[in-house]
Amino acid sequence: METRRRRDDFASDNTAPICPEARVMLEEANTGNAPSYGDDRRTRRVGELVRELFERDCAVYLVFNGTAANALALAQLCQSHHAVICHQHAHLQTDECGAPEFFTKGAKLLLAGGADGKIDMELAAKLFDQQPELHAQQPRALSLTQSTELGTVYTADEIRVLADFAHQRSCFLHMDGARFANAIAALGCAPKLITWQSGVDVLCFGGTKNGLAAGELVIFFEKKLARDFEYRLKQAGQLGSKMRFLAAPWIGLLTGDVWLRNARHANHMAAHLAERLRAEARIDIIFPVEANTVFVRLSQRCAQALRERGWDFYSFIEPDVYRLMCSWCTSEKTIAEFVADVAAANA
Ligand SMILES: *Cc1c(COP(=O)(O)O)cnc(C)c1O
Repeated sequence: METRRRRDDFASDNTAPICPEARVMLEEANTGNAPSYGDDRRTRRVGELVRELFERDCAVYLVFNGTAANALALAQLCQSHHAVICHQHAHLQTDECGAPEFFTKGAKLLLAGGADGKIDMELAAKLFDQQPELHAQQPRALSLTQSTELGTVYTADEIRVLADFAHQRSCFLHMDGARFANAIAALGCAPKLITWQSGVDVLCFGGTKNGLAAGELVIFFEKKLARDFEYRLKQAGQLGSKMRFLAAPWIGLLTGDVWLRNARHANHMAAHLAERLRAEARIDIIFPVEANTVFVRLSQRCAQALRERGWDFYSFIEPDVYRLMCSWCTSEKTIAEFVADVAAANA
């Protein structure tokens, strides 16, 4: 049997390679010796660039991946008798193998519903009311994903409303920003507008899906919230000894707005993919395409035919709904090839 080349192009945005600007900085950092454990000039430079970007004197930490960023940020905010409200489709809940519960030593995730991957305030309020007294774990954080797992984007107003709701109840607002760049590209606003100015206390800012090999930032907008966080990182095995090699590629992303260019490209390609699938292959697009994700409904026959042609992608939510991701390196040519295969499979 003929073996087709496996195509991972749309399976995730972490199937993409390292973007050129990040790679150049990695190469540039690879000369001579330098201080370890973050005591180097490149790690310091990342801190400066992040503070400039967010226009805020914030505390900035580098970790290896997003699961650790989220779990350790929440562990910093919550004790074991607390709870975290998040969306039922939140990565925290579905894809972190219990890391938030593990690192908080037992804080409970309370799952809120809401259309298009966004937390519905009234449903979140109901969760609060269910935890009224001594017998139930008290919510201590509300976690939003921006952009969401379903490829949508919270507006600044939506974040502000949820932040006020959280703060009025003595909760912190955590933002899982594995695709924060895509949200900024979609909204075209200053990063401060949808973070600390809208009440976000801690942001996990993803670099991996934006074009790095590895490396996410944990940003506390109030420095005092970050007290002793470096010990938490070290204990969790997330303090890079050669941190300069995590930091250098971030300098590549944050210099000249490469992070934003990468995200704009990914978003633009997703819009283009959705449009062509609709027009040329009569495919239903399931959620609003606001960032770099396209959800499609495919018949089993069509999905099978595409897999036989080598295309890999994940089914999400319902068995016949599939997620297609675009990245900084998605090309028009790949989209054309995929759409042609979908059209043929659907004919
Ligand atoms: C990818 C992703 C993460 C981080 O995942 P890791 O594999 O741990 O790096 C976190 N949140 C969301 C919404 C993601 O899509």
